[in-house]
Amino acid sequence: MSEQFQSFIPQSRTLMGPGPSDVNPRILAALSRPTIGHLDPQFIDLMDEVKHLLQYAFKTQNSLTMPISAPGSAGMEACFANLVEPGDKVLVCQNGVFGGRMKENVQRCGGIALMVEDEWGKPTDIQKVESMLAKHTDIKIVAFVHAETSTGVRNDAQALCKLAKQNGCLTLVDAVTSLGGSELLVDEWQIDAIYSGTQKCLSCVPGLSPVSFSEDAIKAIKSRKTPVQSWFLDMDLVMGYWGKGNKRAYHHTAPVNSIYALHESLIILRQEGLENAWQRHFQNHLLLKQGLEKLGLEFVVEEPFRLPQLNMVRISEGVDDNLVRSRLLNEFNLEIGAGLGILAGKVWRIGLMGYGSNSKNVNYCVDSLAKVLG
Ligand SMILES: *Cc1c(COP(=O)(O)O)cnc(C)c1O
Repeated sequence: MSEQFQSFIPQSRTLMGPGPSDVNPRILAALSRPTIGHLDPQFIDLMDEVKHLLQYAFKTQNSLTMPISAPGSAGMEACFANLVEPGDKVLVCQNGVFGGRMKENVQRCGGIALMVEDEWGKPTDIQKVESMLAKHTDIKIVAFVHAETSTGVRNDAQALCKLAKQNGCLTLVDAVTSLGGSELLVDEWQIDAIYSGTQKCLSCVPGLSPVSFSEDAIKAIKSRKTPVQSWFLDMDLVMGYWGKGNKRAYHHTAPVNSIYALHESLIILRQEGLENAWQRHFQNHLLLKQGLEKLGLEFVVEEPFRLPQLNMVRISEGVDDNLVRSRLLNEFNLEIGAGLGILAGKVWRIGLMGYGSNSKNVNYCVDSLAKVLG
């Protein structure tokens, strides 16, 4: 028996789910350039540029700003593993899937997670955070998700950080879906540790996680009583590779071609201008909203807390969720997101992220949905 293996050539799709998003062809071209050594002086220069471009995207002067060589989940793990020591109290806001993963991270680091829970589809209630901080005066970190991709809710990062800092806490923020898609000011809002992902509003390939740590965060890491449990994600070791001028120590082999891709995506962001990118995401969200409402689809999240890059709408009574999504995929090559957890079968999540946030995609999605829903 002989098996015939062939190169994999995927049917191309329009990606309008919760990520990955459509990748800009310029980024795919960058990815296919020749691989060079990861300690080649050319590559070291590229690493420095990527750091500077990430500082631009995060709006920060933090010198400890770089991509972790693994997806967003590893950035999350890096933030918790470096900042949480056994016995530390961490206030975690949960109003969706990703807040739940934060809790899991705290507990696996031996920390104590104090939960502030809100309904999925509603923003975190600042008042509840305030009373939790008043009740426990020894909380070390306040952690929350800025853009909750599982529900399309924007949590008020500015207000949450202000409150946390007033109470002497460090702030730890998930910006996987917000970076490049909506307003995010790391220094101005006093975010101490932040992680993102490349496959959402940066429209890059999946597999890298930009992170940034403030001076306060570095101080906390340097004064740890116990070593960071993870060798790969220990920021002190990672810095020996990504920091410190030309004296770079081998830590791991950076995913060289993926870094080319990230560099290109950040140049694209810089050329457009960060504020213009935020504005474009918002305008396309308004266009989508108009189209979906004409089809009778209602948004679940209240207007002030809606994410322009992730639109969650209720599935109408009697409509078969699986059938609609599989018809969109098979007949229109269009991917939209399903509901997660308690929202499974009840909602669709339509992503307008990065390169995919354009009026052509909006119209294509609305027209395809109109045909399928008949
Ligand atoms: C996608 C996502 C993650 C996880 O990122 P991966 O790259 O899939 O590991 C974490 N948090 C949020 C809010 C996300 O949307």
